[in-house]
Amino acid sequence: MVNLSCYESLVSSISDNCLKTTFPESTLQSLFAYDFQVDCNQPGEVVAVKLESEPRLPGAILTDKGQLFGMISRQRFLEYLSRPFGRELFLKRSLKTLYRFASTNFLLMSGDTKIVEAASKALEREVDLAYEPIVVEIKPSVYRILDFHNLLIAQCHVHKLANNLLHELYQKLEIANQELVLQASLDGLTQIANRRRFDQYLSQKWFQMEQQQNFISLIIGDIDCFKSYNDTYGHQAGDKCIKQVASAMKQTVNLITGTNYENLVARYGGEEFAIVLPSTNAAKAVFIAEKIRSEVKALNIIHQASKVSNHVTLSLGIASVVPQINISPERLISEADKALYQAKTQGRNRVILSEKGWELNNY
Ligand code: GH3
Ligand code: MG
Ligand code: MG
Repeated sequence: MVNLSCYESLVSSISDNCLKTTFPESTLQSLFAYDFQVDCNQPGEVVAVKLESEPRLPGAILTDKGQLFGMISRQRFLEYLSRPFGRELFLKRSLKTLYRFASTNFLLMSGDTKIVEAASKALEREVDLAYEPIVVEIKPSVYRILDFHNLLIAQCHVHKLANNLLHELYQKLEIANQELVLQASLDGLTQIANRRRFDQYLSQKWFQMEQQQNFISLIIGDIDCFKSYNDTYGHQAGDKCIKQVASAMKQTVNLITGTNYENLVARYGGEEFAIVLPSTNAAKAVFIAEKIRSEVKALNIIHQASKVSNHVTLSLGIASVVPQINISPERLISEADKALYQAKTQGRNRVILSEKGWELNNY
């Protein structure tokens, strides 16, 4: 069983020593590899001395008249030397002689091979060659010898980096997704909830209140004489007015209910707004609606063409109910709408609560 923290510190210590900066796309060029090439006509002693003085040197690259001839690993070299009469046979004779017995299918890879690909190729070798070092051609005819163990460490490092990167990307994706979900639920002009969100939210809270047998109230507000506002001040001024009213509504609701995020202020359409108030009875809803009406009035948006005031005003209808199986949320909307209609017909700039008892009828 590998101890992960030991493994991690091993990776970081070795990577500090043996690796230059590594990225998931890094190639063999970025790894530390030994520069030890010997002409194969040299005696074996040359390699023996070098291996002795550099205990981490994984082997030697053999050349013949400057051309790559072969590679002999430390392990294989020492193995031949330790055979009966090995020293006598191979130390004084040329490396070529030794290589006649000790040659293997050594792995030669270009320096621009990716670490992951190189490690995978190296691991595909036969079992008795699995730990042999690798010859890396870093430039045409320039070779280095790479310890297989260092390649594996680098591979672990790359794996770790790729994992971190994946994790980071996943987090970014998650944030982008949340932002998208949020945008899909917001009204572009006012940045309050849109109709789609309103519909979802109302049915969700309706269900909850039905379970809890608690009140849910709905306020629908509509800007008075808004057509003539547009006609008088232009569509752009109209847009600005809708934004101001939306933000005043939201602020007022937040101010009254504090951090009760259960409420939802939405743009219902055009110059109409809807406020879903779960766990709120009629009296509290009327209080909130009145407060909204006075706050909109206090915005003091001049409206000379209005039939009811020389400022922009709001009419509001309210319906309130404890949801029952035989009533649908659409009924709540239509009752709030009826109340709004009454507010309009009774002179606008007022709050009307839906008639009592509608919820007792079966629909
Ligand atoms: P009432 O007091 O009965 O509500 O009268 P009203 O004029 O407000 O109602 P009506 O339904 O006749 O007009 C609503 C106007 O709102 C008409 C439409 O041009 C305007 N409107 C709807 N959406 C927007 C918008 O996004 N921007 C602007 N500037 N105007 C809009
Ligand atoms: Mg209107
Ligand atoms: Mg309207």
